[in-house]
Amino acid sequence: DLSGQVAVITGSTSGIGAALAEGLAKSGADIVLNGLGDEGEIEALRKRLETDHGVTAVYHPANMLEPAEIEDLVTSTAQRFGRLDILVNNAGIQHVARIEDLPAASWDRIIAVNLTSCFHTIRHAVPVMRRAGRGRIVNIASAHGHAASPFKSAYVAAKHGVIGLTKTVALELAEAGITCNAICPGYVKTPLVENQIGDTARARGISEEEVVRTVMLAAQPTKKFVTYDELMGALLYLVSDQGASTNGSSILVEGGWMAQ
Ligand code: NAD
Repeated sequence: DLSGQVAVITGSTSGIGAALAEGLAKSGADIVLNGLGDEGEIEALRKRLETDHGVTAVYHPANMLEPAEIEDLVTSTAQRFGRLDILVNNAGIQHVARIEDLPAASWDRIIAVNLTSCFHTIRHAVPVMRRAGRGRIVNIASAHGHAASPFKSAYVAAKHGVIGLTKTVALELAEAGITCNAICPGYVKTPLVENQIGDTARARGISEEEVVRTVMLAAQPTKKFVTYDELMGALLYLVSDQGASTNGSSILVEGGWMAQ
């Protein structure tokens, strides 16, 4: 039961972040949503969390490319609620291209959103958590935090960086009652991924089911997408009191991909 706790989830207007925000709200936590997108849709999501789960949900529009906005996300949360118990760094972007074709600006953006934003949220959240003597930081990395795939150089570099950051922060805060861990999903059928299935099937002249099995999930032994619920199970463990001795670790939720 997370009643009375406050959670910030970056990039929670879509996909995994929205699902994790909903799961935390279902457990009773007050929620700070963040991310890009349509104002009306974001407001509908915010309201739905409040009416369905009886928690307070607010939205902060910080752009993860802007350090001052990230600082405001964290400090305004601490001011408004007087606490910050759970920080989930989830915002992320991708650009698939050969390294020699990847625009330098894309590299910079991916490193900024997927890695540097975690540095900023964490450095501002830590003083708040230290004062409380407890805190939970969970970084949504990826199977690509442990292994590479071609054409994803910036993404893979950023996610490996997130794993390194996770370990370092864990060591620094180990005696402060604060844990820092990573969750490493395999392929999850977010709106982003879903949209690619039909297009890829048409482009390759194969069925959508074949796209999933032989293209998308070629490396994922279960040949099934990871579900939001499976990720939520890992998150609930990490933020619980039972997760207190799990620190600096990566929880793989990738259908056995890394076992190969
Ligand atoms: P998504 O595109 O559905 O959601 C990404 C979220 O990040 C959105 O809310 C978006 O608005 C937000 N965002 C993007 N740029 C931002 C910016 N500059 N400032 C603030 N918010 C920004 O993607 P998703 O699939 O749900 O991915 C969420 C996280 O999970 C990412 O870190 C991704 O790398 C990771 N992940 C996804 C998968 C997968 O298969 N979908 C697998 C492994 C890891």
